[in-house]
Amino acid sequence: MIVKWLIVAIACLAASSAAASAQAPSPARLPFLLKQVGPGVYAAIDGPDHKAGSNAGFIIGDDGVLVVDSFIDVEAARALVAEIHRLTQKPIRYVVNTHYHLDHTGGDQSLRESGAIIIAHRNVRGWVRTNNLNLLGDRITPELKARIAALPLPDVVTDKDLIVWLGSRKVVVRTVLGHTGGDLTIFIPDAQVLFTGDMLWRKIPPNLIDGSVKEWSATDGDFVAMPNAAHVIYIPGHGDVANVRDVRDFRAYLGDLRRLVVEGRKAGLKDDALVQVVEAKLKAAHPDWTISDRAAAAEVRYMGQELDGTKKRPVPKRD
Ligand SMILES: [Zn+2]
Repeated sequence: MIVKWLIVAIACLAASSAAASAQAPSPARLPFLLKQVGPGVYAAIDGPDHKAGSNAGFIIGDDGVLVVDSFIDVEAARALVAEIHRLTQKPIRYVVNTHYHLDHTGGDQSLRESGAIIIAHRNVRGWVRTNNLNLLGDRITPELKARIAALPLPDVVTDKDLIVWLGSRKVVVRTVLGHTGGDLTIFIPDAQVLFTGDMLWRKIPPNLIDGSVKEWSATDGDFVAMPNAAHVIYIPGHGDVANVRDVRDFRAYLGDLRRLVVEGRKAGLKDDALVQVVEAKLKAAHPDWTISDRAAAAEVRYMGQELDGTKKRPVPKRD
């Protein structure tokens, strides 16, 4: 009896591994880690090499799939499309961009080719092909410049909250303030999963280039105040799957950054000296975070500009 069971088990294993290798790249080679976070709800978390550039995810409804963000390039997005097709035969109907930054929109073309309509905040249409040049700054190359100029423009835009129905499955898309001035979050009420885009980073300093820490912190306050927040699963733009304690931790980080920059400046510190003091104190207060010198320097500079009222933020363009 045991031998018979073993033979069946080995045969099943062999069959399933052969099928897996024929259909899809092995999970180890994917640029992201796929994590099921609810019934038919998946988070695609950027891998250790950061080849996907950010997190993404998708929701499988009765009659189709809604994808959240498209990673940094078409290769990573193609791998996501392949994983979706491996899990369901339902068509990919939508991709919702949480904001215009290239690490979240760079693979939109792959999603469009697989049948998706691109939904975004109305400001994304005006910013995706231009402001991404500022975002990359000194990291820009001729190849990247050409890619940014050719990014697809969203098909459906909004500056209001939206409900997208996947058959009987409700997906709530909300406009939120703080990160770029054109951000959306995606909530699946029946699974209690919130895709926050870059309104939440887990144990990684956020990119404040377009942000307002004041507005950002208020939005994260709303996340914490969600009904049933203790049971909500938050999918951040960067970092692993999060819970409400991570949202509180992120808000505390933003609060610490502001406070430390104010205190340092009061003590007469500026430039590199200010960065060094703030960075050391941030690391001490958040020992489990990965804080690079580059990120700390940028955050201190942007925080100072916000406090001075000189911070440049993207300006909405006319249609
Ligand atoms: Zn991002």
